Amino acid sequence: MTQSTLVRPEIPLLDLKSQWRALRDEILPAIEAVCESQHFILGPNVAALEREIADYSQSAHGIGTSSGTDALLLALMALGVGPGDAVLTSPYSFFATAGTIARLGARPVFCDIDADTCNLSPAAVRATIERDCERRDGALWHRPSGARIRALMPVHLYGQCADMDALAPIAAEHELPIIEDAAQAIGAEVAGGRRAGALGTIGCFSFFPSKNLGAFGDAGLCTAADPALAERMRVLRVHGGKPKYHHAVIGANLRLDELQAAVLRVKLRHLDAWTEARRANAARYDAAFRAAGLDGAIGLPAVRDGYRHVFNQYVIRSPRRDALRAHLAAERIGTEVYYPVPLHLQACFAPLGYAPGDCPQAEAAANCTLALPVHPDLEPEQLQAVVDAVAAFHE
Ligand SMILES: *Cc1c(COP(=O)(O)O)cnc(C)c1O
Repeated sequence: MTQSTLVRPEIPLLDLKSQWRALRDEILPAIEAVCESQHFILGPNVAALEREIADYSQSAHGIGTSSGTDALLLALMALGVGPGDAVLTSPYSFFATAGTIARLGARPVFCDIDADTCNLSPAAVRATIERDCERRDGALWHRPSGARIRALMPVHLYGQCADMDALAPIAAEHELPIIEDAAQAIGAEVAGGRRAGALGTIGCFSFFPSKNLGAFGDAGLCTAADPALAERMRVLRVHGGKPKYHHAVIGANLRLDELQAAVLRVKLRHLDAWTEARRANAARYDAAFRAAGLDGAIGLPAVRDGYRHVFNQYVIRSPRRDALRAHLAAERIGTEVYYPVPLHLQACFAPLGYAPGDCPQAEAAANCTLALPVHPDLEPEQLQAVVDAVAAFHE
């Protein structure tokens, strides 16, 4: 037998081509219908998708945006966050979480994460408020910077809701609106069944192609229960024009495309099945790693009691993460590190004055987390091959 006959095909971290092949006959007519209508901006598909995602997320209003990043930006703008303000958030997330705060001239104030879930730690938020903040003139101020804390922005990382039962009372106590970064968490639930996007003041979703509900390009959406806030977001996403060409406020072009909305509406019909496939894959990994006796050598994803984790990523923790990753790459298995540098230590945030040691759990996570393939089209044999490769590394 030659070597080449033994090489099994690559196992990619994400495989969108299988999904496309399965949905081609549903998606192409939807795209064609938009082309026939030549209605590309804020047409019937955007309005329908907004209704459908709001319903799906148990929220009252949906406002489609040009990306998940722009959903965060729109949420912050609608709450009036700007220079002199600060937002409490997680240091362990995609850059946009903090980048949008900073782009508006406000200051991200990073509170550490919980080691097991990698989500914002309520205890760390409380500690930050007690140590660094003071109440004055009916507001909460960040003492070191003099900035006024205007919001709390938890992230539902990897597809699991942050500990909202503990975070919501902290926000309420200090009268802070909550912006949920739910980019990775459409359909995720806290105990009791309430969904991401309905747990805060504004929910922000991303439909980046690698998210659980992925567009054919960039797209996103904000949810809100408050009709006035929803209306403010609708106005801000069209440059603040209301009526058209009359601008009482300064907005931006933050709209969702009609073509993307048409694609997303088709895909939304399949989201529950895909989510169940992701969850089943995660359960299979858990069982297989335990059966192989590997649950001591690697940390398996922690799921909070009663929470519905939608596994945008299945992330293990390994003290030898980089060597394990290299081993899997040699076995042609795709992995990724979400994220290798915590936000408080990003070069661009050096002016904020954070140093190593400020968020120890986020720093530890950056050195040990590794995402394995968990997408809905992953075959059982592929999943087993990943487990076998992880086991071989530990032999
Ligand atoms: C993907 C993502 C975003 C940004 O979404 P885009 O659609 O890529 O702009 C924001 N926050 C988190 C946590 C994300 O994973």
